[in-house]
Amino acid sequence: MCDREVFEVQAADGAGRVGALRIPRAGRTVETPALLPVVNPNVLTVDPARLAGEFGVEMLITNAYIVHATDGLREAALDRGLHDLLGFPGAIMTDSGSFQLAEYGDIDVDTPEIVRFQRDVGADVGTPVDVPTPPDADRETALADLRETERATLEAEAVETGEMLVSAPVQGSTHLDLRESAGRAAAASTLDLAPVGAMVPLLESYRYDEVVRVVLAAKRGLGPAAPVHLFGAGHPMIFALAAALGCDLFDSAAYALYARDGRYLTTAGTEHLDDLSQLPCPCPVCTGHDPAALRGAPDDERERLLAEHNLHVTLAEVRRVREAIRSGNLFELVERRARGHPALVDGYRALLDESAWLERFDPASKGTVFALSAESARRPEVRRHHDRLVRVAPPDGASVLLTEGGVPSADQFDAVWRVVPPFGPYPRALASTYPLTAATPDRPDRAACEAAARGVARLAAATGAELTLAHGGWPESALALVPDGVRTERRPGGGAGPTG
Ligand SMILES: [Zn+2]
Repeated sequence: MCDREVFEVQAADGAGRVGALRIPRAGRTVETPALLPVVNPNVLTVDPARLAGEFGVEMLITNAYIVHATDGLREAALDRGLHDLLGFPGAIMTDSGSFQLAEYGDIDVDTPEIVRFQRDVGADVGTPVDVPTPPDADRETALADLRETERATLEAEAVETGEMLVSAPVQGSTHLDLRESAGRAAAASTLDLAPVGAMVPLLESYRYDEVVRVVLAAKRGLGPAAPVHLFGAGHPMIFALAAALGCDLFDSAAYALYARDGRYLTTAGTEHLDDLSQLPCPCPVCTGHDPAALRGAPDDERERLLAEHNLHVTLAEVRRVREAIRSGNLFELVERRARGHPALVDGYRALLDESAWLERFDPASKGTVFALSAESARRPEVRRHHDRLVRVAPPDGASVLLTEGGVPSADQFDAVWRVVPPFGPYPRALASTYPLTAATPDRPDRAACEAAARGVARLAAATGAELTLAHGGWPESALALVPDGVRTERRPGGGAGPTG
């Protein structure tokens, strides 16, 4: 993969990255993470020319299979090209009919034919006919489907596609080892980007912990160089989490499909227009209408206006994600979005299970860490600080006070270190270095105290110094993690103690 070197990472936060995806045939470079609106060539809910002009959409996705299967459309596309047909000047990715294959069990094109068709209608990115295996499929089915997908990938490689990029889909259902090996196979191909497929059923049923585990398995196989498309992820509440996994492209049919049902997207979930008394959004639709006016509009106009709002919210969230990555506070955004739904908390926790993996990608220094919840105690920055303690440990025999603050007896010690949950102890010389510049609550929760206690244990294991811990009232579960050799005392006038 990336034989043509079309993808360049420009900024990173955890496994999340801002990148530049070069689309040679379109003569343009798309900033990632990017959202590709799905355009049904038969139903143009929002005119593609407006997507490019008013909404700033650089790339969209449409279905080459539908174009191919529709009399009149097929000839027009071959004659005039997709860009002219849709009236869209940006980059166009085309899907192949895999979705229809999964829905109806059979389609009347194969990979060589549809990839040649995509090339002939001027698509900038093409897709082979992979086999999307749904979640929970048995292993034999998933494996047999995967062989078909790998065959389609090989067939696509054999087509002379010129400047058109071609994607190498990663399937494997919910079998993590299959997703990882599929990722390796895609990475070993000469194709250009990697959609992680058949995720819609997991996304629609809010199985975000599994979304995380499946995507991370695919990423392990793919490696960091491949641009990754989370296929079918179109709800803005998932973008921060998906970007934190290292996904670079999303596509949204949701903006139009939800609008058809009167559903109004927000970054915290979905509302129904019938239930809204206010439109809590600054987009042109919401500032130009009230809910009653939208409800009273003719069906097609209401659908279009809702789709426009949905798209504004969706694209704004993608810009926010890019900004968060560049500013080094993507985790804070993931954490805030996770508060929108318990299933997103599960997704965030599943991500933090992999903090050792995330830490490998995380820049050594970035924006101020905000410790906002129990989950913050498991962030990669905490793990990295604990690893660093080994290198800064005090000499054997020194007496060192580790304190949360208020140290009347400090002069009895050779050195005084600060202790801040969730990071734990650190020498004062490091106080103004990343990540210890973190903003943390004065009332740490149980998880933060336990993480700090693990830091004390790491330090104790690394030195023969005599350690005394003055804590502000840690719970027993945290104190139980402090090794026996460390003297502990409740510091006088300690704070309110842990709150969680
Ligand atoms: Zn709006």
